Parts: sequence; C-alpha cells; structure tokens
Amino acid sequence: MPLHDLTLEQAHALLQRGEISSVELTQALLDRIAVKDKEISAYLTVTAEGAIAAARQADARRVAGEETPLLGIPIAIKDIIHIRGVPTTCGSRILEGFVPAFSATVIHRLQAAGAVLLGKTNTDEFAMGSSTENSAYFTTRNPWSLERVPGGSSGGSAAAVSGRMAFAALGSDTGGSVRQPAAFCGAVGIKPTYGRVSRYGLVAFASSLDQIGPIARNVMDAAILLGVIAGHDPRDSTSSKAPVPDYQAGCWRPAGAGDGLNGLRVGTPAEYLVPGMQPRVTAAVREAIATLEKLGAEIIEISLPHTKYALPAYYLIAPAEASANLARYDGMRYGLRVLGQDVGNTYEQTRAQGFGAEVTRRIMLGTFALRAGYYDAYYLKAQKARTLIRQDFDAAFERVDVIATPTTPTTAFRVGEKMDNPLEMYLADVFTLSMNLAGICGLSLPCGFDDQSLPIGLQLMGPALGEVVVLQAAHAYEQATGWHKERPAL
Ligand code: GLN
Repeated sequence: MPLHDLTLEQAHALLQRGEISSVELTQALLDRIAVKDKEISAYLTVTAEGAIAAARQADARRVAGEETPLLGIPIAIKDIIHIRGVPTTCGSRILEGFVPAFSATVIHRLQAAGAVLLGKTNTDEFAMGSSTENSAYFTTRNPWSLERVPGGSSGGSAAAVSGRMAFAALGSDTGGSVRQPAAFCGAVGIKPTYGRVSRYGLVAFASSLDQIGPIARNVMDAAILLGVIAGHDPRDSTSSKAPVPDYQAGCWRPAGAGDGLNGLRVGTPAEYLVPGMQPRVTAAVREAIATLEKLGAEIIEISLPHTKYALPAYYLIAPAEASANLARYDGMRYGLRVLGQDVGNTYEQTRAQGFGAEVTRRIMLGTFALRAGYYDAYYLKAQKARTLIRQDFDAAFERVDVIATPTTPTTAFRVGEKMDNPLEMYLADVFTLSMNLAGICGLSLPCGFDDQSLPIGLQLMGPALGEVVVLQAAHAYEQATGWHKERPAL
C-alpha cells in the first residue's frame, strides 16, 4: 500500500516499529501534494521545508525514546488558525501578506505531540460558506468528483484528508464547517463541545459558536487528534476545565457494557428527515439507523420541535458576532491597506476591496440586526430561539444517549450551482447549525454513497462533553460497515 493510503494509526505503527521514518512519510505526502493538489487545490500554502525539519525532529525524538500517537505524523491546518511565521489568509484578500507573530494553542499542542504541519488549507473567506467557493483565492475540488465542491468552509482540510494529502487535518466549525465538508468528502469530522478546544489563535468568526475540530479518515484517527488538541487553556476564558478523557481508548465500549451497542439509546428526531431531501440520503441514514439497532442500540423517536428556528436564529447571531469581530480589519493593523484621502476613506476603501461578497453581506446583516431599535426584534429574539433549541436538546438527552440524523440534505453539489443563491447555500448546513447554537458535540461519518458515487454523511450528536459516547457509537458503526475504507479513484 502506498504510504499516503495508510490511516494515521497505521502510519504511527510503522513509525513506532522503525519501519519508516517521519522524513520518508512526510516526503511521500509532499510528493503526493505536488502532483494531486494541482487538480484538487486543497492547500493555500505548503510549508515543505518546515515540514521536513519537523519530521527530522520527530525522528530524533523517537530515537531518544519519546512516543506519542502523533509523533512524526503529517497534518494539515485550516488557514484560519495561526501558525507563527506562516501566512494566515482566512481565504481573504484583506489579510494578504499578514504573518502572525504567535501560534494558536492547538498548534502548540500539536507541536508538543510531535505532529508535522504540512501547510494551510483553503477555506471560505473567514469561514463563511459551505463550499470553499467563497475563498478569494480559488475553489477547492472534491476528490470524489472534480466538478463538485468539497463542502465548506473547511473544504480544503476535508479534501486534503480524503485526497490522501494529509493523514488528518484541523478545521473550524461555526455552523457545520467541519461536519459538512467531512460528509461531502467521505471523511470523519468532529465538532467538539463548545469550550472543549481552545479558540486562542483561531481567527474569530462568531465567537459564541466557533470551535476547532479534527477531520480524519476514520473515527479512531479523529479521536486521537481530538485528544491532543482538547483541554483547558487559560488564554481562552470560555475553555472548559473538565478533564480530557482518553478519546482513543474511549472509542471502544467499556468492558461489561455488553456486545455491540447493547444498552445505547439512539434518538431519531422527526424534524431531521424532511421532504425535499435527496432520497438516497434519506435512505442511507435510515439504513444506518437500522444498523445501529442491529448492533443492539435501542431506537427512540424524539422531537426537537424548535429545529425550524435554527437557521434563522443562526443567520442573525452569527452575522451579528461577525460584524463585531471583523471590525478590526480596517487597513491599519493587518494585511491589506488601500490608501484613501483620509483615515475614514482608507477604512472604507480597504474594506470594500478587501472583503468579498459573502463577508460583506454578513457584515451588513449583522450590523442591521444589532441596530438600536432593531436589537429586540432580531438579535434578542434569535437568542431566545437559541435557548429554546438548547432546551430541546436538554430534554432529548434525558431520554437518549445520542441523536442520529443526516449531516446534510444532499451530497456534494456542483461547483457554481449555488453561488447565485445564498439562501440555497445556507440550507446546506440546516442539519448542523443547531449543535453550535446549543454548544453540544457531535460528528459526521460516512454511511454510504449516492447514485453518483458521492459520499453520504451520518451525523451523531451527543450532550455537552459527551464526546466519548458519540465516539463509541460512531466507532462501532464504522467497524460494522466499513464505509470509511472506500477511497476516491483519483
Ligand atoms: N455555512 C455556515 C456559514 O456560512 C457555517 C460556516 C462555518 O461553520 N464556519 O456560516
């Protein structure tokens, strides 16, 4: 098997046994990127020299007796997370030329574990979008079909993973941007509980919703990465002090829990199987639920009655927070500066030329929603809807351990298909947004293919800090079905 086809766990085993070096492994992936990324365009920046240097160091650490599951493993990072000395663009012209002077906490953690960073992956501008078509630089292609989008906004990370150009990657998920591209690319993507992973050094889109999450080729690999990046960070006041469980071991059900998924209660909300969905997606998710039942889980119909308010609430809250967070890009402090006659005009010109259409739309929506006189009618209403959505989940998790739904209503759509219709684009995340509003955790994993051989994603949700039970259900399902073993032809 070519090195790039190994899973993270398999690559680690070879490294540990000394059968390959990290330098060899890293070079194999850099060679693959040099060839395949011409078609896929997952990477905005490849840091080849830095990667080889890090690989050398990892090899030396291993020789010195150190061992971690990520020591010497090549990983990709969404270009909205700072790595000191490497440009961060956020997929935007307004940050062109900006090089951060510090690294995100997740990067420090990866480096401490010995991971090799291959480079920065493409994203919709400031993570606003569902296809990576909003990147100011280029559109990433779906490795399963080059005419299709990889999803977004972490489309570059998902395409790098499923295109065998990284063993795993980090993305960020504000309303679905880890899970939706993972679903479109046939990968596993975890949206951790809000506060589980530090946001320090993640460029802010909507601070009450943003969370960094891993994308990998199977549940175990994603769990390994989550275990390294999760944990309290004094630099992020919203980060949780709860101890981090061993997610890798947590993928297996504890001894005494019985066979398969015996005793696990899986909720299926009627609100998530709506008419108008792609029929093959509905069918695949139903089959997946039947498989969970065969594994011993008890399937319980539940209701999340306020689901229909998730999309409107999200598209008030996220733009409101974005309009405040993006006020800092004024031509003075970061990246692009378009000089005007005076300071006000310089702000105006810089922002007009630096931001793309979708970001401008969000800033306008957010500024409008927060205007004096409108605040109660829009922003406050949306926050109340958010509370109701959270209470729906609280009530549901009294009766069930996990909730199973589709990740997306359709499989990957064609490049260009939704670019003229922002509302259609927003609907790509209709099943993922609620989890961010409620602050709970979950993941997407492959559960089949449509008639065009495009991957379908199953979403499993768990309560706040319930990552382990979600991983167990996902891992058992994956072992029983093996969908994750399918590879794009490329
Ligand atoms: N597609 C959603 C949006 O455009 C979610 C994006 C995200 O999770 N970053 O806002």
